[in-house]
Amino acid sequence: MPEGPTVRKFHHLVSPFVGQQVVKTGGSSKQLPPASLQSLWLQDTQVHGKKLFLRFDPDEEMEPPGSSPLPEPAQKEAQKKEAVGAEPTSGPVRQEPSAGSHCPTGLAASGSEPLGADGPAAGALQWLQVRFGMFGSVWVNEFSRAKKANKRGDWQDPVPRLVLYFSGGGFLAFYSCQMSWSPSPVLTPTCDILSENFHRGQALEALGQAQPVCYTLLDQRYFSGLGNIIKNEALYEAGVHPLSLGSLLSAPRLEALVDRAVEFSASWLRGKFQGQRQHTKIYQKEQCPAGHQVLREALGPPGGLQRLTWWCPQCQPQLAPEEPADQAPHA
Ligand SMILES: [Zn+2]
Repeated sequence: MPEGPTVRKFHHLVSPFVGQQVVKTGGSSKQLPPASLQSLWLQDTQVHGKKLFLRFDPDEEMEPPGSSPLPEPAQKEAQKKEAVGAEPTSGPVRQEPSAGSHCPTGLAASGSEPLGADGPAAGALQWLQVRFGMFGSVWVNEFSRAKKANKRGDWQDPVPRLVLYFSGGGFLAFYSCQMSWSPSPVLTPTCDILSENFHRGQALEALGQAQPVCYTLLDQRYFSGLGNIIKNEALYEAGVHPLSLGSLLSAPRLEALVDRAVEFSASWLRGKFQGQRQHTKIYQKEQCPAGHQVLREALGPPGGLQRLTWWCPQCQPQLAPEEPADQAPHA
């Protein structure tokens, strides 16, 4: 599925439609009939990790359209700072690792409160949660076109799951995604690697667990928005073997790993807005930048998702298990 920076770009594409009414719908979604969005107003959009949230309401809000002129990161951070009232979330069951983490504590989104507090739809499922598949995408005012013929030689264009035509004359097309109604999105900016509220200490604590760091990095409870590409690049940049146990890495190594993950994600996001492709050094490469042969293997927790992982055995040597020499507390 697309990683945090890509979903932030989708969010940026959707944002200009906030304040507009859905005047026509289309798309192949069965689970969520597109027609159910007819005549609703898009009132807000948020991005959390790899998920995109769209808030719909039957009525036009008091707030005039276009009252959110800030670029999305600034705007979102401003909203998060205003967030008040901790509220336990009803998310999936969380298994607290021994290291512990404070991340699951969510904050209710402040953006929805003025409406939810006195509106008829208080507590209603107003937020459309969009989770993108591997080839998920959002298109604005145009449809995705077939890039090649299928096996029968037909040039069949991809079918959008959802198409929303807005009162302003434009439209959005969503491809390869799952949609469901959800309560107010849970704000956990402290887990979101692209949030300025990302809590480094919390991330370091999680990463220091006695399990391979390449598993922990993909754990969305601690590294929301971090996907397989960022994982591979951060490990390479930090010179850390993917199967290194976090508990055996020194504090500076763990810090380097978190920093490289954050830097790579931020650079990827910047590139997205400048129309640049993110350059990778190890992901899907045969050789590392130093010219060494790269190894590739599917790695993941027992019984969990195995993800293809690329690493350079020379630039990212494996620590001997009996060698916790540089271990240091990293509180
Ligand atoms: Zn190398």
